Amino acid sequence: MLGRDCPEMPCDAVFADEEWKAVYLVTQRKPPPAKPPSLDTLVRMVANLGGFLNRKHGGFPGPKTLWIGLQRIPDFVLAPEAARSIGESYWLCSRSLMMGSRSEPGARAHLSHRPLQWRAREVEMDVHEFRRLLGLVDTLDVEQRAQLKLQLAAGDDARSVSAILEGRVEPQPRCPRCDGSHVVRNGHADRLQRYKCRACGQTFNALTGTPLARLRQREKWLAQATVLEEGLSVRRAAARMGVHRTTAFRWRHRFLKLPAMVRATALAGVAETDETYTLRSYKGQPRRLHAEQARAPRRRGGKAAKRGLSDEQVPILVLRDRSGQTADFVLERGDACHITPALAQSLAEDAILCTDASAALAAAAKDCGIEHHAINTARGERRRGPWHIQNVNAYHSRWKTWMIRFHGVATSYLENYLGWFRALDRNAQTGAPPASLLALAIAA
Ligand SMILES: [Zn+2]
Repeated sequence: MLGRDCPEMPCDAVFADEEWKAVYLVTQRKPPPAKPPSLDTLVRMVANLGGFLNRKHGGFPGPKTLWIGLQRIPDFVLAPEAARSIGESYWLCSRSLMMGSRSEPGARAHLSHRPLQWRAREVEMDVHEFRRLLGLVDTLDVEQRAQLKLQLAAGDDARSVSAILEGRVEPQPRCPRCDGSHVVRNGHADRLQRYKCRACGQTFNALTGTPLARLRQREKWLAQATVLEEGLSVRRAAARMGVHRTTAFRWRHRFLKLPAMVRATALAGVAETDETYTLRSYKGQPRRLHAEQARAPRRRGGKAAKRGLSDEQVPILVLRDRSGQTADFVLERGDACHITPALAQSLAEDAILCTDASAALAAAAKDCGIEHHAINTARGERRRGPWHIQNVNAYHSRWKTWMIRFHGVATSYLENYLGWFRALDRNAQTGAPPASLLALAIAA
């Protein structure tokens, strides 16, 4: 029993390279080190394969466990060899499965396959393993410690994202496909509870049906919410989160999408409305600009070619009642026939409308049969009794200030930004923690 007599001897004196590496890989679930471990260590690993428990006072492994372990080694050598012969990518994939890591780019394509994804989920660590891990922490150098910290922080983010997402699910969720109520839990995938509808067999999770469904790298979503709130440019956001520019752009708009779909539908009591204008923009859409407009591109935002209101100006109609409920519309034109439907769908029947002295707004209010008070702001009138439009004007100026950070946005995305601002403004205007912003993105 060489292992007992010379425990410090390197194990490659007895085992072939591929043998000790395979044993290490299988028992430790991490890549084998460059320097072979001691014979004693490896013998214990081999015995582990034969059922040896390696307890603190368990002594040296007996011949039976060793014998069973030794017999299993050739099979473990075969597996990576076979994998290697199939191709490097499969090897990467199997390696990342053993490490529970999803970071290898080559492995990602394979991991999107469901059974593999399930295998890749972290296995709960037992007490002994955890103690051994804690022991190892002491041996790390400064750089390794920094790496470990980053890894832990990313894991924390992923967990809190999952918690926020799960918090959105009703205690008795309904099927998104058939609205059936007989729904059972059906395992986990990607750190999220999966549900299965007994009626139609559909499986779903907290993200199904939201704009965020199927987006990857969930651990970075908190950062995305922060980046959006800070209004970083796409380029800087991409650098901050460590993703590609196109990813940063896609995320921004997926995150912006949902608040845009939720707007107040029954403004009540006294409601104020006013229009504001922004320049029609085709930022980042040169082909669309060419197809829809005859003008040359503007540089850096620029100015309208014509003075006053024209086709170059996009009217935005904002309605806001005194309780702070807000609805906004990007209109094709600022005339009565475009304003009327917007008023009709967002005002309660008995609402009272305050406007500036705009003829189009007055005509639209009349069309809807709503009580209407016009304040002639052009002549310096500020309020008449309870009637004024100061709330909506303040909202306009907050919106414009907030928009400065984006340095102009394409008109086709304007609704997304309006929706996001509406949600932010409702959430106590500023200072909302990223977590609540993320919650906004999935269920405003
Ligand atoms: Zn169903």
